[in-house]
Amino acid sequence: MSTSLLYHGFGIRGYRYVGTEYRQGAVVFRIEQASETCCCSACGSTNVAPRGQVDRSLRALPIGGKPVTVCLAIPRVLCRDCGVIRQTPVALADPRRTYTKAFEHYALQLSQYMTIQDVARHLDISWDVIKDMQKRRLQRRFAKPKLKHLRQIAIDEISYAKGHRYLTIVLDLESGAVVHVGDGKGGEALKPFWKRLRSSGAKIEAVAMDMSPAYIDAVLSYLPKATIVFDRFHVMKLFNDKLSDLRRDLHREVVDKMGLVQTWVTGRDEFGTA
Ligand SMILES: [Zn+2]
Repeated sequence: MSTSLLYHGFGIRGYRYVGTEYRQGAVVFRIEQASETCCCSACGSTNVAPRGQVDRSLRALPIGGKPVTVCLAIPRVLCRDCGVIRQTPVALADPRRTYTKAFEHYALQLSQYMTIQDVARHLDISWDVIKDMQKRRLQRRFAKPKLKHLRQIAIDEISYAKGHRYLTIVLDLESGAVVHVGDGKGGEALKPFWKRLRSSGAKIEAVAMDMSPAYIDAVLSYLPKATIVFDRFHVMKLFNDKLSDLRRDLHREVVDKMGLVQTWVTGRDEFGTA
C-alpha cells in the first residue's frame, strides 16, 4: 500500500498512508494529514497552530469482498486569524458522514442495479445508510430544479390542514413539473422563486394563475414582459360569484318591496317576519 494507491484506488487525496491492520475480516487503513497542509476550515488560513487531534473512522471502497475502514486523525488547529480552535477540513468525506464520498458514489451506482437490501448486504452496512444516501441524492436532484428552460408557468395555491395552511405552487406548464413550493399564499411565498428565476436567466413568456391580486402584483413587478393568463375555471368562478351576488341583491330588493306591500295589506311579510 502506498500514498499513490490511496489516491488512485480509493480516491483519497492529501493524506499519507501510515499502516494497515486486519480486524475480523475487515481491512483498516490508518492515514494522516501532513501538518504543512493543515488550515482553518472556516477561513482557509494556514496561519494555524496545532491543538491535538480527533480520530474519525470512515467506511471506504471495499477490496474484493472485504469491508474497508479508513482511520484518520483529524488535526485540531488554532486559527490565528479567526482566533478559534477548529478541526481541519476533511475533503474525502462530507461532514457528519461515516463513509467516504467514493463509498457513497459506489453505493449509489450499485443501487441503480440492485435492491437497497442487496447493496447493504454487499457493502456490509445498514439498510438505513443506503436509504439515506438515496434520499439525499433525490433532494440534490429535485429540490432545486433548473429553471433556465422555463417559458410558461402556472402559479396556484393549495390548502392543507383543513384549509388553515397554504402552499404556493409554481408549475412548469410544458413538463408539468413542480418548480417551486412556497410557504403560505400571496406574494411573499413567491420571493425565493423570483430570486432563483433571475439568476437562471430564464425568459418567461406567460403565467397562468387565478385572479388573486397578490399574485397579479407580484408577476407584474417581477415579470413585466410576461403575458398573464387567467384560467377558465377561475374566470367562470368569478363570473358565477358575481352573478350570485347580483341575484342575491335583486332578490333582496324585490323582497324588500314585496315586504312593504305585504305589511301594508296583512301586517306580515311573506317570510313571517313582522
Ligand atoms: Zn480561520
